[in-house]
Amino acid sequence: MGKILTILSVIILLVSGFIYGEEPMDNMTSLNTIIDKTGAELRWNPYRSYGELTLFGQSVIFKPDIPFLLINYSEKSENMDVKRGDNGAVLFSNKAAAFIYDILGPKPILPDLMRIKAIIIDPGHGGKDPGAIGSYNDGENQIQLREKDIVLSVAKDVADKLKKIYRDKEIILTRSVDEFITLEQRTEIANKIVLKDNESIIFVSVHANASLNSKAKGFEVWYLPPEYRRELLNQSILDSEPSDVVPILNTMLEEEITVESILLAQSIQKGLNQSVGSFIADRGLKEESWFVVRNAKMPAVLVELGFITNQEEAVILGDKRYLKKISEGIYNGISGFINHFEMQYSLGD
Ligand SMILES: [Zn+2]
Repeated sequence: MGKILTILSVIILLVSGFIYGEEPMDNMTSLNTIIDKTGAELRWNPYRSYGELTLFGQSVIFKPDIPFLLINYSEKSENMDVKRGDNGAVLFSNKAAAFIYDILGPKPILPDLMRIKAIIIDPGHGGKDPGAIGSYNDGENQIQLREKDIVLSVAKDVADKLKKIYRDKEIILTRSVDEFITLEQRTEIANKIVLKDNESIIFVSVHANASLNSKAKGFEVWYLPPEYRRELLNQSILDSEPSDVVPILNTMLEEEITVESILLAQSIQKGLNQSVGSFIADRGLKEESWFVVRNAKMPAVLVELGFITNQEEAVILGDKRYLKKISEGIYNGISGFINHFEMQYSLGD
């Protein structure tokens, strides 16, 4: 029966929909804010226009235009202003709100589920910048290879695979055609995505290697070195923190992102080893402050697919079927990292 009454009052509340609302005045706090901050449950009696906030056995009863609160059905707290705003929203004086926070206590902090919001795949070079150039002989002709074409093909393939599986995530290519974009523009794409506290972005830059030594071969995955310091905190946090805390916070964030970058790099390395390890050698993880990786405020890695200047690898990099295998390896690496990242943090450690 009590349940039916509650449901009924909720329905009436929804129909009349009025008691919530934004704070129109500086010295008042809305009912909405109080519920938000405490996580308390509200019961509203629409016939008598009074409400009760409850949390963990504590109760606060209020009635607009009656200047007191009733605490736990027994204690009356005087001089607590409660009134209706212009739009009907129930408003409490800040003094009354502070008193209610004291009674109900703060909202229990539950760890937010961490999630990857966006995955940015960045094919290097493009347009007037061909990147590394190589060639191989297919038995009849000398075939020209350009890094910008190889990495675009792999990046698009990786993005397509990700889009099919991760429908809740933004999958972004920094370029999807043969066009020139600057390094700054690439990282800007990533850095302008708006993230909640529990959200992160992955940034994967795709390149192919070149060397004067035609024997050099193998794939490499690069991540950012720990000693590189970035401005990771936005100005709003900086403004509210004492200045001696900022470098510490910055370092902590830095280390967190470095660890995630290493894990992402390891996962891609593993993926590539499984898919193409038998014909492209693993040169291991590398640490370097590549510009494109350095400016990205997120786990970010750079993959070198292989050497376009090595005859064997040029043949592989010139073959669409092999490129598919490479994309598969990178895709598996990224999805392995996502599973680890989202699982690990959802368990709250
Ligand atoms: Zn490159």
